[in-house]
Amino acid sequence: MENEKCPLNICDGTGVIVYEDNTFSECQCRKNMHLQNYLAHAKIPIDYRNKSFDEFDPNNEEQKEILVKLQEYVDVWEDVKERGIGFSLISNQTRVGKSHLACAVAHAIIEKYQKSFDKDLVLFVNVTNWIDRWRAFHARFPIGEDEQFYDPAEKQKEIDALCNLDKRMNNCELLILDDIGEIPVTSFVSSKLYSLVEYRTSNNKPIFITTNHPWDVIKKKYGDDGVRIVDRLKEKSTENTFCFDKPMKKKKRKK
Ligand SMILES: [Zn+2]
Repeated sequence: MENEKCPLNICDGTGVIVYEDNTFSECQCRKNMHLQNYLAHAKIPIDYRNKSFDEFDPNNEEQKEILVKLQEYVDVWEDVKERGIGFSLISNQTRVGKSHLACAVAHAIIEKYQKSFDKDLVLFVNVTNWIDRWRAFHARFPIGEDEQFYDPAEKQKEIDALCNLDKRMNNCELLILDDIGEIPVTSFVSSKLYSLVEYRTSNNKPIFITTNHPWDVIKKKYGDDGVRIVDRLKEKSTENTFCFDKPMKKKKRKK
């Protein structure tokens, strides 16, 4: 069977470049393919898969500083990972590029450090989507409802999927929690978030958060759990907490 053509026109389509002395190396097309697979596995939303640091156009000195700090975070990843040091990006406004920057960090860490699927390096989770999925499950399979109203195999399948995601959220090396504090808080939401944050911070596993709410607001929103959630997150991101509040300018095309 004939190979597909190399999209970069470098190799013969096999993803491998063979040299005259019979040595070989991996073609960039193969590396790009691996990167895209790793990004998908890390659940980076499709719109953000190609968002790297280069695509981010800082609006002011403050944003330039944030960008530098994030790039440094990637450079010293092996060290901050051991110490469970996370990162917090806070802004009063939406659409300033927080999720873009979080995904750029994911992109850079994966590109630099991921060599196989053996380890769960980065996982991106939007908090609202995560809780909504649990809520949909509870609505579909209410506690105490007779099994004749649903297919038990289907229920088990959904439980397995949800628990598998929770397990990955607990154990991956870097967890990105996007948009903390958006959904209406119930005791289910706050205890779920607290147990996640508690588990990861006490096991030195970094959490990267983005939020549109200052710490005080999150504390108030989540009640007693809120105080504990914020204390834990703050403790692990003291040096890496950044607030930025000016909207991003539109990227101008170079003439
Ligand atoms: Zn190629």
